[in-house]
Amino acid sequence: MDNLRFRALELAMTRKQHIVDYPDQKASEYFGELTFNKAAMREYLTEEAFQQVMNSIEKGEKIDRKIADQVAAGIKAWAISKGATHYTHWFLPLTGATAEKHDAFIDPVEGGKGIEKFRGSELTQQEPDASSFPSGGIRSTFEARGYTAWDPTSPAFIMDRTLCIPTVFVSYTGESLDFKTPLLKAIYSIDKAATDVCQYFDKDITKVFSTLGWEQEYFLVDSALYLARPDLVLTGRTLFGHSSAKDQQLEDHYFGTIPQRVLTFMQEFEYEAHRLGIPVKTRHNEVAPNQFECAPVFEEVNLSIDHNQLMMHLLDKIAKRHDFTVLIHEKPFGGVNGSGKHNNWSLATNTRENLLSPGKTTKSNLRFLAILVNILKAVHEHADMLRAIIASPGNDHRLGANEAPPAIISVFIGASLTQMLDAIEKADSHVFINTDADSGLLKDMPKIPEILLDNTDRNRTSPFAFTGNKFEFRAVGSAQTCAPPMIVLNLIVADQLRKFKVEVDGLIAKGTAKDQALFQVIKRYVKESKKIRFEGNNYSEDWVKEAAKRGLSNFKTTPEALKAYVVKKSVDLFERNNVLTKRELEARHDINLENYTKKIQIESRVLGDLAGNHIIPVAIRYQNTLIENVKGLKQVLDLKTYGKLSQNQMETITDISEHVDKIKTYVNLMIEARKEANAINETEEKAFAYCGQVLPFFEKIRYHVDKLELLVDDELWPLPKYRELLFTR
Ligand code: ADP
Ligand code: MG
Repeated sequence: MDNLRFRALELAMTRKQHIVDYPDQKASEYFGELTFNKAAMREYLTEEAFQQVMNSIEKGEKIDRKIADQVAAGIKAWAISKGATHYTHWFLPLTGATAEKHDAFIDPVEGGKGIEKFRGSELTQQEPDASSFPSGGIRSTFEARGYTAWDPTSPAFIMDRTLCIPTVFVSYTGESLDFKTPLLKAIYSIDKAATDVCQYFDKDITKVFSTLGWEQEYFLVDSALYLARPDLVLTGRTLFGHSSAKDQQLEDHYFGTIPQRVLTFMQEFEYEAHRLGIPVKTRHNEVAPNQFECAPVFEEVNLSIDHNQLMMHLLDKIAKRHDFTVLIHEKPFGGVNGSGKHNNWSLATNTRENLLSPGKTTKSNLRFLAILVNILKAVHEHADMLRAIIASPGNDHRLGANEAPPAIISVFIGASLTQMLDAIEKADSHVFINTDADSGLLKDMPKIPEILLDNTDRNRTSPFAFTGNKFEFRAVGSAQTCAPPMIVLNLIVADQLRKFKVEVDGLIAKGTAKDQALFQVIKRYVKESKKIRFEGNNYSEDWVKEAAKRGLSNFKTTPEALKAYVVKKSVDLFERNNVLTKRELEARHDINLENYTKKIQIESRVLGDLAGNHIIPVAIRYQNTLIENVKGLKQVLDLKTYGKLSQNQMETITDISEHVDKIKTYVNLMIEARKEANAINETEEKAFAYCGQVLPFFEKIRYHVDKLELLVDDELWPLPKYRELLFTR
């Protein structure tokens, strides 16, 4: 019998190490060598061109045509010197992946020769035939064309001998068709709003950057085993699989020694990442077997997001060289932990300060407090939007499954800060003396302990936790791009800081002293946002009840959560900050719903096919063997012994029939439900039908398939088992 599973296992068990030939260089010598970074710009650009690019990066100034030609010539010379033959605009369409269309530098000239060409216009703008990217109907209503335009704030890089130029992607009429456009707008918005508030405290602060450090979790499986599982190949997760006798219960994988073949892969991956200027720093084993994590040093948010996208691509590419396949899905295996992508976020200033670092002086503490409390207030006001932005079919399996934060958004700030906010809530503002001098600012202001940074308690169950000098948004899924959460987080905080300034200025205009005014508004915000704070165990049932009592939302599924995209509150928020229009939000809502429907539809089809073509035939084949055996026993044994000894087989024969029958029944019902859902035209209603009518059959079918896995002869079972997927390395 030609069992694919055994062929795959044999391959997996006889893998040879992939040997990598590293250059004899220090990491600092090759770090960023494939990016058109500042050093490369200095070398390849004229002084004038260099200055204009810098102004464009730092001040958002436009680069004129003549200079664009010079920059293009410089980039071309640099790229060719690194062996590049092609160039592409690289962008983040709403599929959540990256997109690129390569063009060769080479252009034919007279005499059958060719020269490398790259004009300024090719650097700054392109019109990819991108009509197949999701646009949520934006382009069909207006105009089919989409444009990509150079984003000079993220350096060009070389991948596979191709010069990649990070770009935004917009429609002919200017609507954004990507994640980068609204992100850049949100970054602009937080810069303005936070700088204005910082001006209360420090006139030297003229620019605020949002910073992001992501932590990427993923699984590795041997490529042959992966290919023998159609569910993994087509859906990114296993739809069946009885849990392995041993999986993560001994917790022996977390931070354990990295297996050799994995380490060899990680080393090559990190080498390539470093050449691309991605500052990956940390690697370790995660909780589940064959689960790992990679984290970089934080960077400015736009760059950090591009680096995460690149990194996901790189992981996949390098893993294949080591005969591994990377599973980036939020829940590739039932019963063991899924994967997240924690987004560590903070705000940094041009004066090189972290606005979320509690300061040493009373004055910087007041600034810290102002920022902190505005963040609390922002999350309190827009928790539903934060929930919506992390909604995906994959993340639905993870949120609230006792391994990741629940679908209820709350904020953890730790005991010291809680004490502080409690004190502020009770404090009387008349104890405050109006003076700008540090010492006399606030007499009774509770002090933030200086060692806060080191002693902040960690709450690993909170979806949004303060961790000493940054917030960690932990609910983001491993397969998601960081852009949407970063758009929303920066946007809601910017919006809130702007409101704060209006309120404080209002009080000042009425004659209230500045510090008094600041304090009064802060104090009110502490009270108003109190219900979003939760310090306990977010995984507990009690919290679900308590949150309901507090009136916090708990959207368990993606279609429910996505509603927040299009409610008036969100539309107003996005529009007044000029980040997305109502039309663009509706388009994104549609795309997300359609994506949900399609993913569940694909999973449902794969599940039906696997159950029907892989599982049931094998179960019946094994059952036939048992029937033959029983028949044989009857011939060779006397009736009494036969009656006694055939019991077990008879039982198994009946069990198999029962499971097969249940599987068939449920698969048929699921197909019926799918047909009904497919007949629905309205996008949202359809997504709800898939969620409520189709999806519930998955677990029911799986239960019986997993039972059969335990009954059927191991030699016949066609799909690599969990113990093989999770422990071969
Ligand atoms: P863990 O959460 O696993 O304990 P760490 O605390 O070491 O991990 O940091 C996790 C991530 O936080 C890293 O990617 C790091 O770069 C990032 N980080 C640290 N400081 C900041 C900051 N000011 N802004 C954004 N990210 C930061
Ligand atoms: Mg973390």
